[in-house]
Amino acid sequence: MDAKIAVENLYFTYADGTEALHDVSLKVLPNQIYVLFGPARSGKSTLLRLLNRLSDLTEGTQRQGSILFDGQDIFARGVDVTDLRRRISMVFAIPTPLPGSIRDNLVYGLKMAGIKNRSILDERVERSLKQAALWDEVKDRLNSSAFALSGGQKQRLCIARSLALEPEVLVLDNPTSGLDPLSTATVEESLYKLKQQYTILLVPHSVQQAARAGDQVAFFLNGELVECGKAAEVFSRPKDQRTEDYITGRFG
Ligand code: ADP
Ligand code: MG
Repeated sequence: MDAKIAVENLYFTYADGTEALHDVSLKVLPNQIYVLFGPARSGKSTLLRLLNRLSDLTEGTQRQGSILFDGQDIFARGVDVTDLRRRISMVFAIPTPLPGSIRDNLVYGLKMAGIKNRSILDERVERSLKQAALWDEVKDRLNSSAFALSGGQKQRLCIARSLALEPEVLVLDNPTSGLDPLSTATVEESLYKLKQQYTILLVPHSVQQAARAGDQVAFFLNGELVECGKAAEVFSRPKDQRTEDYITGRFG
């Protein structure tokens, strides 16, 4: 199967000289949850921000190597970055609903994209809320404030907001960091369903979540990809001592 995303010999250095990624290569297949785990400052968020070129917003950085999305170099001249960011959509750690109603949150991006027809908007709202496993909880109060939702509901709303724009890849950087175990479970379950249609990259909040949620996992340390493979294999038979030390809690 062809990779949805292929990272090839990627190096990335910030303006102050911090090398955040060192010779990283990986392949993400479609319809999988690909987990990037490792201690803080190992380069996970840097890699996620490169995937849809949010990294362009940081000045003075240096990059070598390539990222291919459906075989196309995302850094090539002429790439439509707005479209790239719709197709590879990012959900952040702290759910940040927009002021306004639940419905407003979902139609905002669609209206920006030029969709005005009421029945198309309603259809997208319903579909994306169902996909994010939130519909049943909010269908009777679409016009009430998004701020009244619980933490887990807000995060599923943010996932639904990404989905409304019909992305191909969902990138989630520690999406359950502020959530209680029950809300975390609801978000994880929505991801298991979503991978049937999308490709998902996830930075988990714990090794346990990495083991639960990941199909493929990659262990990052100090900007290097130490090892990657099927979750069941990496967690039961890590090949590298550093991976073993991390998953058994010797550091982190
Ligand atoms: P992780 O997500 O695994 O915690 P990051 O990608 O955030 O790791 O960070 C990797 C390295 O890059 C760290 O050393 C971090 O301090 C550094 N870094 C991240 N963002 C910036 C920035 N904007 N400027 C300078 N250094 C940064
Ligand atoms: Mg991070």
